Amino acid sequence: MYQEKIKQFMWDHKDEFLADLAKLIAVDSVRGEEVPGKPYGEGPAKVLDLFLEMAAGYGFHTENWEYRVGFASFGPDTEGRKLDITAHLDIVPVGEGWEMTEPLVMKEIDGRVYGRGTIDDKGPALAALYAMRAIRELEIPLKDNMRLVVGCDEECGSSDMRYYYSKTDFAPMTFSPDADYPVINLEKGRFYGEISQAMDDDAIAELQGGMVINAVPSSCTASVRGITMKDAAPAAKRVHEATGTNNAMIEEDGLLKISVSGTNAHASTPEGGNNAITAMLQLLGELPLGNSLAQEKIRALSTLFPHGEFHGESAGIFMEDAESGKITLSLDLIQLKDGVLRAGFDARTPICATEEKLSVLEQRLAEAGYALDGHITAPHYVPEDSPFVQTLLKCYEKVTGKEGYCIAIGGGTYVHDVPNGVAFGCSVEGVDNHLHGPDEFAEVSVLMESGMIFAHVIQELCG
Ligand SMILES: [Zn+2]
Repeated sequence: MYQEKIKQFMWDHKDEFLADLAKLIAVDSVRGEEVPGKPYGEGPAKVLDLFLEMAAGYGFHTENWEYRVGFASFGPDTEGRKLDITAHLDIVPVGEGWEMTEPLVMKEIDGRVYGRGTIDDKGPALAALYAMRAIRELEIPLKDNMRLVVGCDEECGSSDMRYYYSKTDFAPMTFSPDADYPVINLEKGRFYGEISQAMDDDAIAELQGGMVINAVPSSCTASVRGITMKDAAPAAKRVHEATGTNNAMIEEDGLLKISVSGTNAHASTPEGGNNAITAMLQLLGELPLGNSLAQEKIRALSTLFPHGEFHGESAGIFMEDAESGKITLSLDLIQLKDGVLRAGFDARTPICATEEKLSVLEQRLAEAGYALDGHITAPHYVPEDSPFVQTLLKCYEKVTGKEGYCIAIGGGTYVHDVPNGVAFGCSVEGVDNHLHGPDEFAEVSVLMESGMIFAHVIQELCG
């Protein structure tokens, strides 16, 4: 019954919304050096003050908890609250390459607002505040309270949320507009680890690849003893053709130096990259190195992590389920140092994963002589048929006219550790908002619709 009124409210307040957003964007809220009373530095503290001032100005109760996190609510809650909306006001560094505007000077062009934080996550945070304004100013009655929680450390490890939940209970329901529509109700678990083994001989003098454990590596280098460029050329050609990676070789200091280049991707979506390490392992395995035991060990590793395989089939941990899809497995780091080969992998595990099923990889590694230091994090899941998720989907459909459905992802969101928490908005499928890159933008219509959707959700869940 309030649908038309809420829609009207958002469009009537569009200019005011954009003016408020421009003020938030203007604050450089990258985490900085701690100063007394401000654990994340001046920028995050300044933007939190500004946001809470805005909220107080619109008539809300606000609290600032040690400049780590703050919230706006319809009033102090003595008997708890039904819903938390969690968003964040810190940003990643603005970086280079902006063309549409200065990164901290919000500019509207063709229905989009450009600027750092427009989509991640100041725009969605403000949309939630305007949803609360709509409820309050349209005098839509609520039975239960809720909080709009704004954190200041999402981009640097989410210590803000750990602090928040160390001081307060989980709300019965939580959503975070810091990802994608329609609803992300499942975040895979994670299984990552370092494997290691001493090399028996020095046929392979150097080996180095990858930057971080959670990214498919785009480069890997090696130095090999005892062969020439001519000896290695047939294998190099075969591996280039089979993998689509490029390789280059030079002879230097009595060594054959090889570099392989591929393509980066996030470890949770390894099929989007081209892994330079697994291609290098394949190449090293094919070189005519005579009877090298070190090469045997490289071959064994390559057998468990063959190039172009993303779901752990050869590692013995392939698994999938209907809700979360397939496991992903990516070998992302490698280094040979002081005669010991170390490598790191990152697997994203479906909800059917168990420690026992994952231990098959450890056994297979052990058979190949490798030790494993592994870590397992549980997946996060809120059933699609829960009344909470169904309410979110219904409100999304009502406002957008589009079909609502649930999404499973391999990465973690702001609610990974929050029971009955899901991610809900504000990126739309098929639109690349240049998150964390230059020319980050949000579509004004999506921000307006987000305000409407959130107002419906608050009314449905707390009304
Ligand atoms: Zn974010």
